[in-house]
Amino acid sequence: MKPGRGDGNEDGVASATAAARIVLLHAAAPPKPPAGAPCNGCGVCCAAEPCPLAMIVFRRRYGTCPALDWQGERYACGLLLAPERHLRWLPRCGRRLAVRFVARWIAAGRGCDSGAPPS
Ligand code: SF4
Ligand code: SF4
Repeated sequence: MKPGRGDGNEDGVASATAAARIVLLHAAAPPKPPAGAPCNGCGVCCAAEPCPLAMIVFRRRYGTCPALDWQGERYACGLLLAPERHLRWLPRCGRRLAVRFVARWIAAGRGCDSGAPPS
């Protein structure tokens, strides 16, 4: 997921399939675009499974990423928007560096990298 509260991604009713799984998404979430298209914050990738960075940070390999954040009309990465919310040990002076690191790690702004079928 590119550019997203803690646990608020189960409040929706719409669903989408990803890798033969059903993931719950907010009813107002945009449809998943094709891979390579600009990320629209549909949330499918991060609802399906944590990205490599999230696997390290949250120590989980399955399920919806705890950092997936519903922003009112799209999902966003909470680790990118507010790293201090998830990295409690992060000093205030390290926030900027953390944002840059997360953006690079999750390839923010590089387009959709999810192979899940468009919806
Ligand atoms: S850390 Fe961000 S990009 Fe990675 S799975 Fe979680 S919400 Fe998505
Ligand atoms: S990377 Fe793709 S699947 Fe993930 S939120 Fe963006 S558009 Fe949706």
